[in-house]
Amino acid sequence: MSFTKLTGQETAVRLLKDDLDSGRIHHAYLFTGIKGVGKRTLALDFARALFCQRQDGEACGTCLSCRKIEHSNHPDLSIINITEGDSIKIEQIRELQRGLAFRPYEGKWKLYIIEDADRMTPEAANSLLKTLEEPPHYGVIILLAREAETLLPTIVSRCHLIQLNPLSVENIEKILLEAGYEDSEKIKLAAALAGGSPGEAKRLIEDEDFFTEREKLYEFLYNLPELTEVDVFQFVDELLTLLRNKEAFPFFNLILNWYRDIILYRMDSHADLVNSDYIALYSKISEKYSVEELISIIELVNNIKRYIDSNVKEDLALQVMFLKIRTKRVK
Ligand SMILES: [Zn+2]
Repeated sequence: MSFTKLTGQETAVRLLKDDLDSGRIHHAYLFTGIKGVGKRTLALDFARALFCQRQDGEACGTCLSCRKIEHSNHPDLSIINITEGDSIKIEQIRELQRGLAFRPYEGKWKLYIIEDADRMTPEAANSLLKTLEEPPHYGVIILLAREAETLLPTIVSRCHLIQLNPLSVENIEKILLEAGYEDSEKIKLAAALAGGSPGEAKRLIEDEDFFTEREKLYEFLYNLPELTEVDVFQFVDELLTLLRNKEAFPFFNLILNWYRDIILYRMDSHADLVNSDYIALYSKISEKYSVEELISIIELVNNIKRYIDSNVKEDLALQVMFLKIRTKRVK
């Protein structure tokens, strides 16, 4: 992917290109944005452009430097990362400091990319701060984090901030098509559910279980008006078990899209349905709800999502939510 064509991140790309074109490279950058939005891709694009032997602010993709980055063996580029749930330890920062003490092997710069920089231990963060205070003239460090607020303010103040915004559904669809995905129904669905993150969309589309779990959820919502309380409790139990194993299952978004789709169906906007594969079921149930009831259900689901985000007991909140939807007593 060319540096200038990172879909949907034109502002971030322009800021970095300005630095490359003017030769005023900052010693520390902080790229922020939601998981899967493209921080790592952008950092590697920047690395290619910075190291490219053609030196015209754009990576050629063919010179020795570009090829070394492609094969993850450029001696002046290091990436610090951790496995999910782990934290960046002081030893990893000390290693960075030892490496940064040596001048670049090949070009003008030595670049370190720190993924999940918001997961540094306090010791690691304080140690990194010392490096950021006095970096060697050839040193560049790019921190990747979800939000600047999750880092020490003293670290943030030493970094040039580059924000990556969540992408539009259209841009995510475009990225999925460019990445070679073909199933247009899955592309549409994954893009709509990814919350602005192309990485999340790719994860959903690759996850076969996701489509099975979605089917179970929609079967439940379809039958909900006829189910007993015991059925509802049992489903909530199953859902919570699923969420324990698969925290990222976007069930709130799935539920919201289900009821939004029914509104769209009622308004004859069939082309806009997210779950276009469920159009046959929508035709059977759409008459059971008024638009007003559907809007109230959507409000209820959004409220329950907020309660759970603020630590209200999950099982109870979900039981209440589904029981209310079941009887349409949603006010
Ligand atoms: Zn090159």
